[in-house]
Amino acid sequence: MLSGPETQKKRRITVALPKRKFSKSRRDKKRTHKKLSLPAMATCSHCSQVKSPHRVCLHCGYYNGKKVIEIKKAS
Ligand SMILES: [Zn+2]
Repeated sequence: MLSGPETQKKRRITVALPKRKFSKSRRDKKRTHKKLSLPAMATCSHCSQVKSPHRVCLHCGYYNGKKVIEIKKAS
């Protein structure tokens, strides 16, 4: 026979509950830092199109002054 705290009594599960209401003001103040940020953008040194920094330009295929990939033109 097993004897432990589980078998002796059916234990009540208690959850921590806040003592007071969290006001709308405090709730909203907590969220002031929670926002989306714009993605980082850089301009291509070859074609001056907007591109992601440290990435090959998807418009001309250049990276750091050298042609890295061939860009197929949609026709
Ligand atoms: Zn480019």
